[in-house]
Amino acid sequence: MDSLEFARNGRELRGELAVAEMPRLQDKLFGPDGKIGFCIRGYQDKSGEPMLEVAMDGSCQLVCQRCLGGFAYPVQLVSRLLLVHEGEPDELSAEEDGPDSIPADKHLDVFAMLEEELLLSLPFAPMHPPGVCQLAARDLSQPENGAFAVLAGLKDK
Ligand SMILES: [Zn+2]
Repeated sequence: MDSLEFARNGRELRGELAVAEMPRLQDKLFGPDGKIGFCIRGYQDKSGEPMLEVAMDGSCQLVCQRCLGGFAYPVQLVSRLLLVHEGEPDELSAEEDGPDSIPADKHLDVFAMLEEELLLSLPFAPMHPPGVCQLAARDLSQPENGAFAVLAGLKDK
């Protein structure tokens, strides 16, 4: 899509992505289940700069970095992206700065942009919520009933 035209005319695009169809996401995933609904809205900010608002809502299966089990991670994000004109001196550095600006592109790859936003929103080390993770639950239990007791028991045998 032409991102500048999209922003200037206040267009809106809605759809749904299957998690399984996002190749760059796969090594973070526990399983391919999950769908992400998205809505991209074009607008101009107060100073007339072309912007995209990207909202995503759904869930995917991530790998818990503590116990290596899978869990459903709720995806709920809203990003606002400034479209930076080609040829502007700061274009490259602005891109390095993160998700706040993307180059204005007459042929923006919407799919790649959504995947990128989703990747950026995921935690670096995803984990089960507190109290749900098997390992965390063990850590929180009283020492005499927990891992230490098990170890002590093994030593005695
Ligand atoms: Zn866990």
